[in-house]
Amino acid sequence: MIQLQNYINGSFEPPKSGAYLENFEPAKGEVFSMVPNSGPEDVEAAYQAAWAAFPAWKNTPAEEKFKILNRIAELIDSNRNRFAEAESRDQGKPVWLAKNEMVRAAQNFRFFATAAMQFASESHSMEDRGINYTLRQPLGVVGCISPWNLPLYLYTWKIAPALAAGNCVVSKPSEFTPYSAYILGEICTEAGLPAGVLNIVHGLGNSAGQAIVEHPGIKAISFTGGTVTGKHIASVAAPMFKKLSLELGGKNPNIIFADADLEKAVKTTINSSFLNQGEICLCGSRILIQKQVYETVKNKLVDAVNQMKTGNPADEKTRIGAIVSKPHYHKVLGYIDLAKEEGGNILTGGKALDPEGFENGWFIAPTIIEGLPYDCRTNQEEIFGPVVSLIPFETEEEALQMANSTNYGLACSIWTSDLNRAHKMAAAIESGIVWINCWLLRDLRTPFGGVKQSGVGREGGWEAMRFFTDPKNVCIAF
Ligand code: NDP
Repeated sequence: MIQLQNYINGSFEPPKSGAYLENFEPAKGEVFSMVPNSGPEDVEAAYQAAWAAFPAWKNTPAEEKFKILNRIAELIDSNRNRFAEAESRDQGKPVWLAKNEMVRAAQNFRFFATAAMQFASESHSMEDRGINYTLRQPLGVVGCISPWNLPLYLYTWKIAPALAAGNCVVSKPSEFTPYSAYILGEICTEAGLPAGVLNIVHGLGNSAGQAIVEHPGIKAISFTGGTVTGKHIASVAAPMFKKLSLELGGKNPNIIFADADLEKAVKTTINSSFLNQGEICLCGSRILIQKQVYETVKNKLVDAVNQMKTGNPADEKTRIGAIVSKPHYHKVLGYIDLAKEEGGNILTGGKALDPEGFENGWFIAPTIIEGLPYDCRTNQEEIFGPVVSLIPFETEEEALQMANSTNYGLACSIWTSDLNRAHKMAAAIESGIVWINCWLLRDLRTPFGGVKQSGVGREGGWEAMRFFTDPKNVCIAF
């Protein structure tokens, strides 16, 4: 049995209470590791270490930060298989997918290593009267709280810019998927990251996570997770005027027009619906299809899904792994029951599976539903599993109205060969991210985040560097 520890001040330490939580391997339904059940006293120790490390890290030359962050990237690359196996056992995803995600985790460090070198101050000349320049100063100690779906990918997406901007970090990965962050602690020490610059406190959201949000010395919270948790964090942080970046849920539309390249649309839709068991905030769970091609697209999607293998995460041919936890497995199955109650017709899937050798794991067949009105609960609430709903539409206006009908506004895909329509729809869609004829094509320089209940603030590129710094204007009179 693996026993994880907190990473505080460059050392691995047990939680002050000595209490541990059982963490399960979703594919087997068995306990896999013991995770520190940390509380406010562990967060305080992490904060003290971070605060002590801050003056030196803030003043570390950009070249040195660049070298250390790049070294972390190299070590993620050279430990890719170890990370991927840990992540797959923790989360349930196929190992091949976890390997792909590790490439991105390393890239997050590489990208922000370069950002540390290039992030520059602005200056504004007042002609012969004087000049202003704007210092971008690190905030101090910042909190990063990440979810279980893309564990290292999203964790590094927060901590890499926080460190590059000169902050020290107190972080908490999800208690369902702590293992890859634990390995990252080892790697940070090996890469020469000074003790205290990054601290990892494991434990439950409502104790360790809450203590990070409540800590008066932690100046900003970068959080990715559910909308309900995001609202709670906002209410706790607001009286302290903490800076907040909240990346929350989604119920993303995937709109397929009759004039689209249907082969490409269907192939990508299979991914955007079911990659990582549909447990990606960017997955398109509402598939809006123009009536002329509805039957064609539906049949192609069902055929493709019927060929997908669900089961052993270590098998290269597996497309659908296990659902992350027992409660989440029951939640997703509950939504399938709700869809039936709401009058939905299950075209494929719609049930739990017990693949050979993994009978005690939490597997759900990829599920396609049709026949539901666009405004029913199944089509409005985030399911966050391998479940999608097909909705026919006639006109562009109708597609837009349905697409914008939810409280969420994270991402959208539009499939069309009409350039005018693509631009018009992109401008009118209420979401932070629009993909035209693609999905999940990412450029780390671009702003990432949502509108409405999908969150506030943006991550990525300079947006992240701005979030993790405060601007200070200096005005010099000549
Ligand atoms: P949660 O909101 O349950 O948890 C996210 C993190 O917050 C976890 O580390 C959790 O700890 C912690 N947490 C929970 N309660 C508190 C609290 N009171 N104070 C501080 N921290 C707390 O989300 P999930 O982990 O279930 O992740 C799935 C959700 O994340 C989905 O809604 C998905 O859409 C969203 N998401 C959004 C993305 C985006 O970029 N917009 C990307 C990926 C996911 P613990 O695990 O112990 O509860």
